[in-house]
Amino acid sequence: MRLLIVEDEKRLALSLAKGLTAEGYAVDVVHDGREGLHRAGEGSYDLVILDIMLPGMNGYRVCGALRAAGHDVPILMLTAKDGEYDEAEGLDTGADDYLTKPFSYVVLVARVKALLRRRGPSGGSPVHVLGEFKIDTAAQRVLRGEEEITLTAKEFSVLEQLVVRAGEVVSKSDILDHVWDFAYEGDPNIVEVYISTLRRKLGASLIRTVRGAGYRLEAR
Ligand code: CA
Repeated sequence: MRLLIVEDEKRLALSLAKGLTAEGYAVDVVHDGREGLHRAGEGSYDLVILDIMLPGMNGYRVCGALRAAGHDVPILMLTAKDGEYDEAEGLDTGADDYLTKPFSYVVLVARVKALLRRRGPSGGSPVHVLGEFKIDTAAQRVLRGEEEITLTAKEFSVLEQLVVRAGEVVSKSDILDHVWDFAYEGDPNIVEVYISTLRRKLGASLIRTVRGAGYRLEAR
């Protein structure tokens, strides 16, 4: 999952990014409303955390512009405590949820997870059953029967991209876009490295290579 943080308080933005990265998300940060709109409009984000008071363009306008352009990415708005901005206005412009500053990091993570889950293709259930595997995208756990298989956060993120689109072909660049942030300038073949690790841990038959197109998770 890839998240965008649009927040001009740099220390807050960077500490959120650090925490969410440790949770296994790919996180991009921008500090300006216009840049936020531009990035979010590119469409490869699973969620946007959007501050309201921003240079360039305020959060309400960014949110409104995204919705007007037909983007349905979940948006979590960050509002100031002083009541200068009210939640109703934020939700009116198309935000999915709001959080009042100062907020606890734990609450933010819970809200982010809830929004991502709500958006899940399986009608909100975070648990995907594929043959003998049970993959819980909320708890980031993989079980084969009763046995838990340990994956790193990145390995899980790669697997998750295939799981939420099980049976479909997912291209290498789709995986790269959703799992690595825009600062990643390494070799795109990193995806292959992760796929081969996943095959070693989960068995060779689960993830099929579709030559020239990408990968497909077999829903046996
Ligand atoms: Ca601000």
